[in-house]
Amino acid sequence: MNDVNIIDISADQISTHVKDAGVVGAGGAGFPTHVKLSAKAEIVIVNAAECEPLLKTDQQLAARYPDQVVKGLSLSMKATGAQQGIIALKAKYKDAIAVLEPHLTPNMQLAIMPDIYPAGDEVITIWLTTGRRVPPGGIPLNIGVVVNNVQTLINVANAVDGKPVTTRTLTVTGAVNNPITVTVPIGTSMHDVLELAGGIDKDLMYISGGPMMGTLITDLSTPVTKTTGGLIGLPKEHPLIKRKTMTVEAVLRIAKTVCEQCSFCTELCPRHIIGHELSPHRLIRAMNYKSIGDPSLVTTALTCSECGVCEAYACPVGISPLRVNIALKAELRAKGIKYHGELGKEDPMAKHRLVPSSRLMDRLRLRPWYKEAPLSLKVYEPDEVTLKFQQHIGAPAIPVVKVGDVVRVGQLIGEIPEGALGAKVHASIEGSVTQITPQTITIRKGGAAK
Ligand code: SF4
Ligand code: SF4
Repeated sequence: MNDVNIIDISADQISTHVKDAGVVGAGGAGFPTHVKLSAKAEIVIVNAAECEPLLKTDQQLAARYPDQVVKGLSLSMKATGAQQGIIALKAKYKDAIAVLEPHLTPNMQLAIMPDIYPAGDEVITIWLTTGRRVPPGGIPLNIGVVVNNVQTLINVANAVDGKPVTTRTLTVTGAVNNPITVTVPIGTSMHDVLELAGGIDKDLMYISGGPMMGTLITDLSTPVTKTTGGLIGLPKEHPLIKRKTMTVEAVLRIAKTVCEQCSFCTELCPRHIIGHELSPHRLIRAMNYKSIGDPSLVTTALTCSECGVCEAYACPVGISPLRVNIALKAELRAKGIKYHGELGKEDPMAKHRLVPSSRLMDRLRLRPWYKEAPLSLKVYEPDEVTLKFQQHIGAPAIPVVKVGDVVRVGQLIGEIPEGALGAKVHASIEGSVTQITPQTITIRKGGAAK
């Protein structure tokens, strides 16, 4: 770690570098990191839990680049004024633990979490490592904490060295021929990424992200973004694929006809057990008998993390409170309705209600696909990339180049609109800009404008 850099640089300069490099939360929805680092916090947590079954990106990056992870943590602590740094990971990440330990400074510690799902949900990570509880509808900063994942912190460390975010590391696994963890320029198509893992198999369907929270991809020209967590191929008849292809109408019909009100979904809901009002079985009841109950109850759907425990693990009859919540959230957000509620008492049995990852793996019938996906150190170079102007929470970036321009790797191509929350976008390969749409920009290696 280059201590001189960290001592010499001010908190404002760190945030500016991070903003200029286009760093966003790599493990979640892509909240612009410079905004997080501009706030004041007591604790910075590195979320290295990586609790989605099958994904092996952060654990390998932490083992390979411990100095960059710790540098990113030091910079985040300096930017936010935090006095404590915590690297939260699981005991089974032995390689990462062994190499991180010698790099820690006296104000940093490793926090070893149980191998449970969703240890990587930042609200649960904070609770497991500090005992603090984020209020429902709140954010970690409300309780003095900032959380960033491993890849985000590596990007923070690079940002201060003047390197913008131009690549993404992701695990490509499942039933693919050659499970692997690869680094690709942002904007590489899923099609090209699959070629690196042994090619496309027409008997498979593909999930972008993890098995629990990922989404089905129907178009393999979909580009990798700053937040693409993984790419998983599974047979079309796999229960997980069937569940993800079920229509909302079918989900609601099943919820209406077979819910036994057993409340297992609520007893195991990670948000409920730490004292949030969210009770999925009550939401299912409210949906089914619209005339009964408190209308404000429905707004608790807004506090659902979409972890999927209720759907994939808890419900004995195949109902998806998760999908019901997603539908409710869309409706509530469209009407501009917000949740207003207090943090309640923690379930005294909370720690015993967490879902062991190995049981989840069996329940999801993923055991046959649990394979090594070794980290390749080669950065793949596609002939063409298509970068989205919106890979983050906030306003889409606006293009600052035009069709026909020749761009180099790391050159700014999308700027944050004046006064808006957003993130910059940079060219990820060298070449010519061949197309610009309201949503995307395409760059072709050595290509001429269309
Ligand atoms: S676990 Fe399933 S059956 Fe039981 S209350 Fe929840 S949705 Fe209904
Ligand atoms: S997806 Fe289900 S288990 Fe997870 S937070 Fe939402 S309601 Fe709770």
